[in-house]
Amino acid sequence: GGGLVAYSEAKPDNGMNAITSTEADGKKKRVVVLGTGWAGTSFLKNLKNSSYDVQVISPRNYFAFTPLLPSVTCGTVEPRSIVEPIRNIVRKKKVDVRYWEAECFKIDADNKKVYCRSNFTTNLDGEEEFVVDYDYLVIAVGARANTFNIPGVAENCHFLKEIEDAQRIRRTVIDCFERASLPSLTDEERKKILHFVVVGGGPTGVEFAAELHDYVNEDLVKLYPKAKDSVKITLLEATDHILNMFDKRITAFAEEKFQRDGIDVKTGAMVVKVSDKEISTKEVKNGGNVSSMPYGMAVWSTGIGTRPVIMNFMTQIGQTNRRALASDEWLRVEGCDSVYALGDCATINQRKVVEDICAIFRKADKDNSGTLTVKEFQEVLDDICERYPQVGLYLKNRQMNSLVDLLKDSKGDVVKESVEVDLEEFRLALSQVDSQMKNLPATAQVAAQQGSYLADCFNRMEECEKNPEGPLRFRGEGRHRFRPFRYKHFGQFAPLGGEQTAAQLPGDWVSIGQSSQWLWYSVYASKLVSWRTRALVISDWGRRFIFGRDSSG
Ligand code: FAD
Ligand code: MG
Ligand code: MG
Ligand code: MG
Ligand code: MG
Repeated sequence: GGGLVAYSEAKPDNGMNAITSTEADGKKKRVVVLGTGWAGTSFLKNLKNSSYDVQVISPRNYFAFTPLLPSVTCGTVEPRSIVEPIRNIVRKKKVDVRYWEAECFKIDADNKKVYCRSNFTTNLDGEEEFVVDYDYLVIAVGARANTFNIPGVAENCHFLKEIEDAQRIRRTVIDCFERASLPSLTDEERKKILHFVVVGGGPTGVEFAAELHDYVNEDLVKLYPKAKDSVKITLLEATDHILNMFDKRITAFAEEKFQRDGIDVKTGAMVVKVSDKEISTKEVKNGGNVSSMPYGMAVWSTGIGTRPVIMNFMTQIGQTNRRALASDEWLRVEGCDSVYALGDCATINQRKVVEDICAIFRKADKDNSGTLTVKEFQEVLDDICERYPQVGLYLKNRQMNSLVDLLKDSKGDVVKESVEVDLEEFRLALSQVDSQMKNLPATAQVAAQQGSYLADCFNRMEECEKNPEGPLRFRGEGRHRFRPFRYKHFGQFAPLGGEQTAAQLPGDWVSIGQSSQWLWYSVYASKLVSWRTRALVISDWGRRFIFGRDSSG
């Protein structure tokens, strides 16, 4: 056989080297979770219903607290302080959870199987492959770094996505300083080796540049006094500003601070090629000049792409021309049964009001008169806003609260309280509403909330199946007895180095400075998954304040 092992109650496929699981209870529904990152771990931590038989598959047997990854690159925090073994997390649960350290390379939704490959060799064939059957599949495999197929990036740049990446960056920074200290070098060679280039002005790139700047100026210059005048950090960003997803005040503050610190921020510069010695950029404006700069180390942080296993799966189920696996608002993958997707590998396909306008009108028009009164509209408004959150956003942003306001917007000021609208007028009044829809960002906050939302649905699945009458839904959605997933934004931090952190909290609240730094420390300390990691990170921070960062490479 091809080394394939089936964990299945059913008859194994012919020719396969199959083992029948003795552990799985035939009556229990089998849930398979792919991934132990933010989404997968949050799902596992919140799953409480013991009527499931859960199998977790991930090539990494730990959860990593990614917001502190940039701190690992400079030794502010130790790698082992920000990871928690997944077996530790699931050990105490009442739910049956088994873990397999392996990578899923194929999903077969028709036959409800996933194909996996482990890194370990346990037989003479070389790699070990096996098949796992599921009743429900939870896909939470995250995303990969995106090179946009720019030549030389994969070969020559560092990424900052995994623990190993951060450790490799840390070693390379030290190597650069040691290489630059060798006696035979010219000034020019030394400058080249100590030129650190960060590509991508998003939160990760900016935070890494700031960390590196602090590391160099607070710790390394003391150890490598000759290097002081040769070090340079350049941050390349293709758009006009860094941190452009943040409030303008934060962007401006960050750009000014970096300028004072001597970090060279080049905006409007798109990388077109990377060789082992030089990075070539093209000016986005001004005629598109191409120029090259020599560098010692480059870190690539320009965004995320789709993993191959997800790309194949999307082709299989007919989701083409998309950048992530599309689900409905209940996180169920569109185009197949009993498969859920969450976190960075997924995107929610929100319903558009225009597509459902007839159904909404019919539902609201209780007396079937063919026209809608202000009262009829107001009675269903809460339901509309729950099902289509863009309506609530639109009304709020324009300080409207009724159908009359909406009509005034499309018809002018002559509208009276006693007005009635037909379907066409209703369609016109709501025609701009869908412009408020935005994709959720690829963040830990979104992934974690989706994980706990889905766990909650799984916890209550049975109860809801017995009691199929759910709350009012617009499109024959009686099947989904759950509220759709709604994201709650708790704000975002951008550490900028030198004990300065920018915080953007809900309601356009912006705070920048040392107090935000302490807010950041406490938020992250409280979010760490276990008391063990919490204690380790806090002692790392303390050690750094007292002794500085470690610099052995
Ligand atoms: P991940 O957390 O990436 O987890 C994916 C999991 O799937 C991993 O366990 C992986 O090993 C596993 N896997 C991969 N391939 C397979 C496969 N084929 N089969 C099975 N398993 C597989 N977000 C914030 O909100 N705030 C921040 O401050 C922040 N800072 C960040 C800093 C850095 C340096 C980075 C890289 C990200 C940061 N993020 C932050 C983003 C956040 O980490 C991601 O949005 C989040 O990790 C997404 O969760 P996920 O579960 O979808 O994917
Ligand atoms: Mg995950
Ligand atoms: Mg993670
Ligand atoms: Mg997503
Ligand atoms: Mg009516």
